[in-house]
Amino acid sequence: MVLVYSDEKKLTLELLHKAHDLAKEQQKKTIAVCIGHEADAQDFLAHGADVAVVVQTPLKEFKAEEYATILHHLIKEHSNETVLIGSNKNGKELAGRLAAQLQAGCIMDCTNVYLKDKKLTTERMVYSGNAIAVEQFSSHPQIITIPPKVFDPLPKNEHHKGEVVKKTIDAGQSASKILKVQEMKTEGINVEDAEIIVSCGRGFKKKEDITLVSQLADVLKGRTVGCSRPIAADLKWLSEDHWIGLSGHKVKPKLYVACGISGQIQHIAGMRDSGVIVAINKDPEALIFKSADYGIVGDLYQVLPKLTNAIKDKMG
Ligand SMILES: Cc1cc2nc3c(=O)[nH]c(=O)nc-3n(C[C@H](O)[C@H](O)[C@H](O)COP(=O)(O)OP(=O)(O)OC[C@H]3O[C@@H](n4cnc5c(N)ncnc54)[C@H](O)[C@@H]3O)c2cc1C
Repeated sequence: MVLVYSDEKKLTLELLHKAHDLAKEQQKKTIAVCIGHEADAQDFLAHGADVAVVVQTPLKEFKAEEYATILHHLIKEHSNETVLIGSNKNGKELAGRLAAQLQAGCIMDCTNVYLKDKKLTTERMVYSGNAIAVEQFSSHPQIITIPPKVFDPLPKNEHHKGEVVKKTIDAGQSASKILKVQEMKTEGINVEDAEIIVSCGRGFKKKEDITLVSQLADVLKGRTVGCSRPIAADLKWLSEDHWIGLSGHKVKPKLYVACGISGQIQHIAGMRDSGVIVAINKDPEALIFKSADYGIVGDLYQVLPKLTNAIKDKMG
């Protein structure tokens, strides 16, 4: 059996696609776990789960210790050999604790999972994306975390047959207590779901010039502005919501326009899966051109207004 869990519904649906493929190849079943969110169960079935386990719990907030106990219980009960967990902040903490409880192997942030000679094999980026580690497990169960956007969900199929099982599991007494949960202040920007992103880097001389990027984003009807690390972390011209890369957000838009960004591997790691990549840079040797489908060598202060006007004319 392949078990899937994430505290993000969308991520669970993405993981279910991979779980469904792995389970089919091994003639096994897929179990999706909902902790407290009963309403999601039918959607999980329609997206490839054979069983949706709804854990009824009085727990109000995610706490890795308690959730690990719940999953531990389910994994033992269903003899799950493969466990896919969404690789967000909570998922990573959960996977680590679960692996320790089960004395199991755990591979984080996998960008591919497949069977090779019937052995579960994973790939993940190492050395800031400069190399890919290909790994296999030597014990069971096998715990894998997968970041958002690595896989697309299966198309919804209301006719896919499955079973919803309700369970009450005692999560035990946790050793820690959450005193307060404070939402991070954001500008409501969601680069991860954007279809078009226009990004700025250190090629911009001052904060006000970033309007050149928002104007282009506006005419492209994308309205989503991204940036490299120095713009958010060092100069603080934009909030961290916009930050793309290895330590920022991982994005997968249909179109990514990189303006004044050199294309260091840590930036590329966050946007390399974009559909079409366009780069504008005055240095013809800039690394970004190696990752771009289209490149414009030129001064962004001249190129951006012309490009924005040309697109405006074309789109009426
Ligand atoms: C552990 C670690 C994690 C990191 N994580 C991230 C991350 O998540 N995201 C990220 O982005 N970076 C990250 N970095 C930083 C990364 O290594 C680079 O330093 C950063 O991406 C560079 O940003 P930049 O391209 O905007 O600036 P620069 O490298 O300074 O590039 C500016 C570019 O603008 C061009 N330019 C200048 N003027 C103009 C002009 N007038 N017209 C056109 N082009 C012009 C230049 O030719 C140059 O190529 C990380 C680094 C480390 C060590």
